[in-house]
Amino acid sequence: MSTSILPGERPDRLEEECAVFGVFAPGEDVARMTCFGLQALQHRGQESAGIAVGDGETIMVSKDLGLVTQVFDESRLAALEGYVAVGHARYSTSGAAASWEAAQPHISAIDEILIALAHNGTLVNTNSLRARLIDEGIQLRAGTDSEVAAKAIGSVTQKTHHLREGIRYAMQYMEGAYAMVLASPDTLYAFRDPNGIRPLCIGKLPEGRGWVVSSETCGLDIVGAEYVRDVEPGEIVRFNKDGVTSEQGVEPRKRASCIFEYVYFARPDSVMDGQSVYQARRNMGRILAREAPADADLVLGVPDSGIPSAMGFAFESGIPYSDGIVKNRYVGRTFIQPTQAMRQLGIRLKLNPLPSVIRGKRLVVIDDSIVRGNTSKKLIEMLRDAGATEVHMRIVSPEVMWPCFYGIDTDTRDQLIAANMTNDEMCEWMGADSLAFISLQGLRDSLPDVRTPGYCEACFSGEYPVDIPAYTARNSFMTKADFAAAYEKEAQEAENTQVSV
Ligand code: SF4
Repeated sequence: MSTSILPGERPDRLEEECAVFGVFAPGEDVARMTCFGLQALQHRGQESAGIAVGDGETIMVSKDLGLVTQVFDESRLAALEGYVAVGHARYSTSGAAASWEAAQPHISAIDEILIALAHNGTLVNTNSLRARLIDEGIQLRAGTDSEVAAKAIGSVTQKTHHLREGIRYAMQYMEGAYAMVLASPDTLYAFRDPNGIRPLCIGKLPEGRGWVVSSETCGLDIVGAEYVRDVEPGEIVRFNKDGVTSEQGVEPRKRASCIFEYVYFARPDSVMDGQSVYQARRNMGRILAREAPADADLVLGVPDSGIPSAMGFAFESGIPYSDGIVKNRYVGRTFIQPTQAMRQLGIRLKLNPLPSVIRGKRLVVIDDSIVRGNTSKKLIEMLRDAGATEVHMRIVSPEVMWPCFYGIDTDTRDQLIAANMTNDEMCEWMGADSLAFISLQGLRDSLPDVRTPGYCEACFSGEYPVDIPAYTARNSFMTKADFAAAYEKEAQEAENTQVSV
């Protein structure tokens, strides 16, 4: 879900990496169904889109840079005939950004073994997996973790002649976050990392017409599939003409579903592990109203994800809710390259206040998160220009203090405002009258319907459910204070060295 305010610049938000979608449905137009599914999941990635279709003999893939509707027209869809399909919409955090090679699904063709793989998440041990493949003489083009996974599966499948063995083997070695769908010419597979970090659910088409796998339930809804269940952590589910089978590819570990899916990434009409995302966001607002009340005349939400939380805050506090910030839905982040003059327009390209509502009012403004703080600072300035007498910021996620390594595009610690300033400093810098974040426990409490609680909360707590290799973590973990200390230490060491010489 992209909310970049300055198209062409790095967004001041955590950005989702990808959407995956798969269909096994003989006799159906699986390419078109996948296209619809990807459109429903477009908020998870807007850089490229791709669909691969198997017809029992071979796999055809079509992919390109752009939104799903830009990539797939009638002629492209008509060329994809078959009964098993996987699709992908990409937002890049790993490997080459916005390149055709990095677009998915990835095809792996090693001798007679042909597979198409679509991946949501990020592997944290890509370098060691890549080195292993290169040692085996396997060539890599894109350099992404997803390509590495596809080649690793293909390589073992070639040796064992069993695709399931290839997937199981890869699952033993892949570390990090992965929700994957894979097509062979006649079979669809869905599998998920042992912590269940990124979401993946299964749906059934009516009258036994087939099966659908999707990152979110909103992808099932659009093709008329009924939600059956989530793919379990570490599980491999296989769909083919013999039916549906399930096996454990790798032992499940402590559950660590990304809690940020509920705050921001997922669509509000999706249900994740039994929890309505819309209801979760309302609950967050209600809990925040109890934790950090404000004396104000109106509650506003920052569109889109802040709106249900603002309604919840208003309900709990008794302060009236109002629309007050209008979002321009047609400002994309990938294909609009504004001139410097346009960049100056800043936040107004994306969000515009309603002065007739705001003038003379004390506002509580509900937003989903603060990453670098620039968006909030500009928004507050804009609301004051529109006549607000007070602006109280209330945030329905705790302070983002640590980078994500599991498929979300985050800054290094030195760029995360909450890792470098106290609450009072942030409030003053942004120009708010008050600033408060929901507590981590408050956020967990807003998810009462989750069937299997257990969350990744690493961007708030710094406790990572899957270890991050030292070479990846070293620079990302530094705050400004860390940099200053490291600089001081190096200077001191240099001085000592000179003395000893
Ligand atoms: S670090 Fe944050 S954004 Fe990343 S998976 Fe964990 S909760 Fe989600």
